[in-house]
Amino acid sequence: MDLHELTLDRAKDLLSSGQISSTELTRCMLDRIGVHDQKVGAFITVDTDGALEAAAAADRRLAGNEDAPPLLGIPVSLKDLVCTRGLRTTCASRILENFVPAYDATAVALLKQAGAVIMGKTNMDEFGMGSSTENSAFHVTRNPWDLECVPGGSSGGSAAAVAGGMCMASLGTDTGGSIRQPASHCGVVGFKPSYGRVSRFGLVAYASSLDQIGPITRTVKDAALVMNVIAGHDPKDSTSAVMDPSMDTAVNPSTGRLDFTRACSEFNDRGLAGMTAGIPREYIGMRGLDPEVEQAFKGACKVLEGLGVKFREVSLAQTDFAVAAYYVLASSEASANLARFDGVRYGFRAEGCEDLLEMYRKSRSSGFGLEVKRRIIMGSYALSAGYYDEYYGRASRVRSLIMADFARAFELCDIVVSPVAPTPAFKIGEKVADPVTMYLEDTFTLSANMAGIPGLSVPSALSSKGLPMGLQIL
Ligand code: GLN
Repeated sequence: MDLHELTLDRAKDLLSSGQISSTELTRCMLDRIGVHDQKVGAFITVDTDGALEAAAAADRRLAGNEDAPPLLGIPVSLKDLVCTRGLRTTCASRILENFVPAYDATAVALLKQAGAVIMGKTNMDEFGMGSSTENSAFHVTRNPWDLECVPGGSSGGSAAAVAGGMCMASLGTDTGGSIRQPASHCGVVGFKPSYGRVSRFGLVAYASSLDQIGPITRTVKDAALVMNVIAGHDPKDSTSAVMDPSMDTAVNPSTGRLDFTRACSEFNDRGLAGMTAGIPREYIGMRGLDPEVEQAFKGACKVLEGLGVKFREVSLAQTDFAVAAYYVLASSEASANLARFDGVRYGFRAEGCEDLLEMYRKSRSSGFGLEVKRRIIMGSYALSAGYYDEYYGRASRVRSLIMADFARAFELCDIVVSPVAPTPAFKIGEKVADPVTMYLEDTFTLSANMAGIPGLSVPSALSSKGLPMGLQIL
């Protein structure tokens, strides 16, 4: 049995029936990291000792016939911008190179409570800014399907680790597409929950009104199993959603608890017949859409149609303005959030400064990478007196219109479907010199963040070069 090819769901069964041990499973993934990660570069930090200890503890509990928590003994990894107590958290930035948090993010604490084995911290674009994982201060991550290509980003390390059989699930974060786009490029499942569904406490903020933590896994059911553990209200995050259980479709009425796997089994039993999928008129024949991506999308729609899904056109009229508005809003929020990294706290400080201002300036100039500085400059400009209304105010109004577009669309359909990214995974280095082309990677994904709605990327086809492409379901 190839342990690294198991789904999380299957591994749970094998662990609880005693057919495999968590130590075996964890060692198998650590061995794969040892063999493959020099080439792939999915991880920034591998916590070998911590993982083996957690696995041994899980095995003792499994043997003790205790009531097993839901992820007992399952190896998972975490994007390196969720805080882990005692384990370095860098956000792939020099400015946090030696930062060791004193507490766990809520999502991490919940995974640990559920018995998960934390393998380590995965590579990413610095602070989540990018779509290729080339903006890491430490190294690039390569796509396990083709080492010449990017894995997507910014949660590229997480997607590559899951695709490469180096963990069974990973937490990513998605501000404009950073879970769904790398999942699509690496042939795995990525789910961005509704805004507020998973606590942001202990997540290093990029753009607080858009950021959301979510799972990257091999199957939809595995993503649901992780969601069951990490979702829920958290008083430590003021934007965490408080839902009325009687109105919340993710709540299981018989238990009163959030239950994402129940929805999976319901769809399995009931099928998709009678469901209506909307296709945004503005996405059809869009400039920059790769013909193979378009083909794959049409193929996926055919499959859904065969399962009884009806299609209709809907309109997301703001599509032309969404990317521009997103980059104004995200950069503005980033410029405020990143102000805290001043060379005084969090470890990094430039040497040999005469006074405080010089220390700030030098620490920030050498601590942040180029893309992060570009965003801080754009964001500070957009928020500055005299320009605020012109940029930030206008982008906020576009955001409201995007929400209204979706509200109208969902009066006509149950789900909106689209490609995830306009092209399959591209070559390393191909887009780094051209930020605008890189920003267009997010064309189909970032509207969901602006509207706060959930989005799923599922594998749908392989390109002629053998690269995976995903289908987005909003
Ligand atoms: N590529 C987008 C950006 O750079 C989205 C990143 C993300 O979702 N974290 O902002």
